[in-house]
Amino acid sequence: MDTLYDLIIIGGGPAGLAAALYAGRAKMKTLLFEGEKYGGQIALTTEVENYPGAAVNETGPGLVARMAEQAEHFGVELKLENVTEVDFASKDKKVTTAKGDYFAKTIIIATGANPRKLGVPGEADLTGKGVSYCATCDGAFFEDLPIYVIGGGDTAVDEAYFLSKFGRKVTIVHRRDELRAARSIQDKVFNTPNIEVMWDSVVEEIGGDGLVEKLVLKNVKTGELTEVNASEDDGTFGVFVLVGYIPANELLVDKITLDEQGYVPAGEDMKTDVPGVFVAGDLRAKKLRQVVTATSDGALAAIQAEAYVQHEY
Ligand code: NAP
Repeated sequence: MDTLYDLIIIGGGPAGLAAALYAGRAKMKTLLFEGEKYGGQIALTTEVENYPGAAVNETGPGLVARMAEQAEHFGVELKLENVTEVDFASKDKKVTTAKGDYFAKTIIIATGANPRKLGVPGEADLTGKGVSYCATCDGAFFEDLPIYVIGGGDTAVDEAYFLSKFGRKVTIVHRRDELRAARSIQDKVFNTPNIEVMWDSVVEEIGGDGLVEKLVLKNVKTGELTEVNASEDDGTFGVFVLVGYIPANELLVDKITLDEQGYVPAGEDMKTDVPGVFVAGDLRAKKLRQVVTATSDGALAAIQAEAYVQHEY
């Protein structure tokens, strides 16, 4: 058989890289796969303010590049190969990429979750330049500016309330005439003077030259288009797209148990229902998806993987 690793980590965001660091320091023979470039969601964030110890002007790509270097320093092999298949049926688990099969005693899955996109013109180009998918990450950058929140679920409504502490005015843009969010959260929002709701509306286009400057909205009942433009004084405004998440679970369907939303249920020990297979980061069913919670999951998963190799393999 090819090399048998102690641990293969799938996913090179903060959860996977933190797991790699802990595994490397524990002298586990460890291989980490990341599809295209390290970082996951955080690599899309221009400025990271909420990770303890982050430098002033810390960028997402900068932070994860150092995490990757740190893991390599402790002997972890990092490979930019897309994992196409996993097989957990045998004691030694198999991970397949376009370049071949790899085998390990334990696996940590840290493939994350991706925010659902609107798929409208301008959205991709202006991501990180006014378009955001994370209020906790980026809210503070819109101090005293208008903010548009797209979506009507718990996340959108919760975060609209959070963003109302930064933005001069927050407008929730929802495609129906009733919110999906829990009544208690709705009440909070309806009682906040600087939040309003634009009903029956969808985004048609996001525009701007380097920063968001324009939003085109359509009333789905009347077909009427409304163009929102940044004032000269503001120069820009925020567009928070909070229309749900899509867990990156494609490899796992029928391989491990997923919850109703497609996340992997696991407690503090990060154990999935397959012995020797652990989960870490945004793919785990949890309340707060942040770098700080992802790295914590990664450390815990690596420690559990080490214990499995020592006592259960
Ligand atoms: P969600 O419940 O799936 O809501 C997504 C929202 O986005 C819905 O209002 C939906 O509209 C809208 N939407 C979806 N696709 C859209 C599109 N292409 N264009 C415009 N609008 C679109 O997602 P979530 O709010 O992220 O919540 C995910 C889960 O986490 C839920 O189970 C939620 O209850 C839970 N959660 C709970 C809390 C809390 O308890 N405080 C906080 C956050 C999240 P429609 O309503 O018309 O479908």
